Amino acid sequence: MGARPVVVFALVVGCLLGGVVGVSGAAAEPIELENGLSQSGTDDRIDVETRLSIPDSTAELEITIPADTDVTAAEGFERIDDRTYAWTGSTATPSLEYEYDATVRGTHRRREGVTFVANDEWALVRTPSVGVSWRSTDTDSELLQTNAVDGEGIASTHMAYLGPYTEHTSSAAGQTFRLVVPEAADLREDPDEILGAFEAAAERLVIGSRPDVFAIAAPTAGQTWGPAGVQRGPGGDMWVRDAERLGTTRNTWIHEYVHTRQRYVPTDATRWTVEGMADYYAALLAYESGDVGYAAFRDRLERGTDPQYDDVRLADPGTWSETTADYARGAQLFAHLDRRLRADADTSLDAAIAGVNRPKRELTQRRFLSAIGSAGGTDVRADTERYTETTATPPIASRSDHVAAFGGPDIRRSIAETAVSGPYRTGPIDPPELVVGETLELDVVAENVGTAAGGFEVELRVDGEAVAIREGRLDAGVSTTLRFAREFDSTGEFELAVGTERAAVTVREPAGIEVVGLDVAPAAPIPGEPVTLRATVASAADRPAAGEVTVRADGDPIATESVRVGEGTVTVETTVSFDDPGEYVVSAGGQRTTVSVREDAASPGIDPTGLDDQPGLGAGIAVIAVLVALAAVGRR
Ligand SMILES: [Zn+2]
Repeated sequence: MGARPVVVFALVVGCLLGGVVGVSGAAAEPIELENGLSQSGTDDRIDVETRLSIPDSTAELEITIPADTDVTAAEGFERIDDRTYAWTGSTATPSLEYEYDATVRGTHRRREGVTFVANDEWALVRTPSVGVSWRSTDTDSELLQTNAVDGEGIASTHMAYLGPYTEHTSSAAGQTFRLVVPEAADLREDPDEILGAFEAAAERLVIGSRPDVFAIAAPTAGQTWGPAGVQRGPGGDMWVRDAERLGTTRNTWIHEYVHTRQRYVPTDATRWTVEGMADYYAALLAYESGDVGYAAFRDRLERGTDPQYDDVRLADPGTWSETTADYARGAQLFAHLDRRLRADADTSLDAAIAGVNRPKRELTQRRFLSAIGSAGGTDVRADTERYTETTATPPIASRSDHVAAFGGPDIRRSIAETAVSGPYRTGPIDPPELVVGETLELDVVAENVGTAAGGFEVELRVDGEAVAIREGRLDAGVSTTLRFAREFDSTGEFELAVGTERAAVTVREPAGIEVVGLDVAPAAPIPGEPVTLRATVASAADRPAAGEVTVRADGDPIATESVRVGEGTVTVETTVSFDDPGEYVVSAGGQRTTVSVREDAASPGIDPTGLDDQPGLGAGIAVIAVLVALAAVGRR
């Protein structure tokens, strides 16, 4: 998550020359200072040229450059000490050139890495803080400080990128967004999607002023960034790793964006609010925009209950400064306060924050408690005190409690019906016990019981793995049925899950078959007369079955057929004729019966066509046709 480094503001001190009166009515000419940044030949450093344009009204001027620089050239300046240079007055446009430590390494909440870097190809850097003090005859004397990149690159007030890049811009809610995508970056998300997320957040968050945003996508290839993003300075400057995703509860783009909106100055007791607020809104906005479900939002808040934070008192940074409790526990507390403010007082956390989110104004514990108290009343104030000053943790709201307080969509998912289809049977089945080759069909009802339309995503998981996803959008009070189908081609016990609903599925091999009846018609034919043999087949167990039925005459197979039995029985038919009078034993499976072929003087015989083509058949038996009928009988 983003670090928020302590920012050293440029020291700006203007003093009037005693006894000298400025020219009244004349437009004040400002002192202009520009830091020109360029790539350096030295690792981890960049070159800076601090150039000034000094008006006549200026009598004396000194500049203080950052620590640990190597000054390589000075024009119109003389050195006072390592960091301080005095203007000699020899030129109105003095300049100082120096190498500046651009790479910043360190450990941020136990994560080691860089927060700014200069390498051979590009640099993502803090702009140098240069202090200026001067004496002037001009009563309105002021300083205009800017940064520029000498060569390819782009600079803002507190950050700069040196190297080739593309800039994408948009605006919303009176706020301008600049997204700088370096050529060296491999942006995971579409630039327009990132700008769209900024715009949506700008419209949604009503917590105070909206400084223009300058966001750099930090190249991750070959870099070990400590944090995933950094916001710097009392404005909209930030960088986010190019690999960071949108649409998750830990959306770094939105996390850093929230920092750009935080104008107040925290004290030790309220320092947790900085990261807690950024994490809370990043998760809330992901949920409200439909990118994640309530379960994911809730999971994010539940990180605050991790036992590693058991001794944390948010108002005492000494109890958490080496952890990320301010992010996790902080987000959990803001969620609790936001819900209570909405449920009990018909206001919101946004409104309470907006009241204290003032530039350069300290947010003390007292001011924070008073802002929450005046918005939400004594109970909510007491909650805030308890959950910041003791180790107690606030409850996490159920989805229905959340929706009751926030309004919005609340989409429930439930399994309405399970059915089976496939080669054996079709129809409802409960409990879902299948055989290999069958398909389980699930009807899932998605219903919006909330107060506003919203998008939803229904995911079917088998043993924890997502196998199908349906998306859609539902108006409030409306439901829809979604059908999922899953074929099972191996045996086992499987757990199907849709949201929090579970269904256990058992899949076995098909059972064997059993011939339970054998009929012949007619039972006493004359020679050559077609005789229908009908075998009735059932499953040998309490589940669908598969196997082969062979019909025999006098022990010789005359027809074999593959049979599948769902529920009930199926029949298998074959037709034969017998040329010679006599007794013939016909059988199928364990069933047997006798065909008595009688003499018929009137019909000397039917030509037994095909007799010789039936290998293995005894003399005098001919198969005229084989017909298999599968007639499922019984329940569906
Ligand atoms: Zn942060």
